[in-house]
Amino acid sequence: MEGLTIYTKEGQRLQLSDTGKSGGEGKIYSIKGNHYNCAKIFYEKVITEELIEKVLAMTTNVPDDPTWSIIGYRSIAWPIEVVFFDNTKTKFAGYTMPYIDKKIFRESHLYYDPTDRIREFGGTFTWKYLMTSAFNICNAVLAVHQRGHCVGDLRENNILVSPNALITLVDCDSFQIRDKDNDKIYYTRVGTGEFLPPELHSINFKERDIDRIYADRFALSIMIFKFLMMGVHPYQSKGDEVNNTPSTEGKLLKGLFPYEKGTPVRPPDYAPKYEIISEGLRILFRKAFVDGHKDPFERPTAKQWLDALAKEIDNLKECKSNRYHVYSNHLEKCPWCKMAIDYFPNNLQQSHQIILPQPGSKEVELVLWCSNCGCAIEFDFNNCPNCSMLVSEMR
Ligand SMILES: [Zn+2]
Ligand SMILES: [Zn+2]
Repeated sequence: MEGLTIYTKEGQRLQLSDTGKSGGEGKIYSIKGNHYNCAKIFYEKVITEELIEKVLAMTTNVPDDPTWSIIGYRSIAWPIEVVFFDNTKTKFAGYTMPYIDKKIFRESHLYYDPTDRIREFGGTFTWKYLMTSAFNICNAVLAVHQRGHCVGDLRENNILVSPNALITLVDCDSFQIRDKDNDKIYYTRVGTGEFLPPELHSINFKERDIDRIYADRFALSIMIFKFLMMGVHPYQSKGDEVNNTPSTEGKLLKGLFPYEKGTPVRPPDYAPKYEIISEGLRILFRKAFVDGHKDPFERPTAKQWLDALAKEIDNLKECKSNRYHVYSNHLEKCPWCKMAIDYFPNNLQQSHQIILPQPGSKEVELVLWCSNCGCAIEFDFNNCPNCSMLVSEMR
């Protein structure tokens, strides 16, 4: 394995080894003697003054990670320290950040896509887990927004989810960053069509500085919809109006949300019945996808989603014939029992799940959490049930 020596701002020497993981901008290294963090080292060709300034601004404008102070687990893979190739700190190399185990934390679509989810978890990753994941995403996005930043390119690949519904926002160096010391904003230069609001579809982000807060609210609403509606995109639909618009992106631009009365389109056949969604959440989806299609100010904030989801999670009901059928309190009968596909079949062991406290709350429960993956561990266990790390090896 290729090794590398780098230096922190304080002059501490770090010994790195290649992990074999790389992206368009750089490589990820493990740090000798530190299992909790890793280092991203940029390729020389992508290093610019703006990048250096941006990463520095990130290390001094850190969002208040909702899970860090409470369970010692990071929901945002934010840069920790800037690192240099030389100990005189003239040659910028990259930064250290929390190490996220990609065997445990996986891209969000593997959870909300029913085929992938059932293959991995059977029915155990219930609607409550899906809703909890959505809640945890809102919590992390809220922390980013509260610091004056935006995710920018919020989409399924930069949200990772663990089997116990913990989440991590990754690729943070592409976020929109506000340096509060000088009010300078570093903009996001990328976008993803299926998550971008209509007003930004023809924008060249490389050339224009666009504040992404309303785009974040739109994309967040789409992510929540996907988690609760078995991976279906809110603008996917069928009917004469969209016959000539096969792509999801094209349908998004048309703005016909098929779950509202009076729209000329219908939900696709593979969508679950919208009755699973309570009126409280429907109001927010309406604001996001009907009113908010034209008017960015109508889109619900991360905080509004967080509050609405917290209320829902507290009131979910369990089906009497299958305990993995969890459903909203407004329904009399289990909706999952009636569907042609069993989205939550009862054929595997239930895994662990936790609901995270809201930012700012200092509630600590007397439960042990795995320092590696955040999973809850019962007192008589020697290993984490999720990643099997030994309790004796944890912090
Ligand atoms: Zn049922
Ligand atoms: Zn674990």
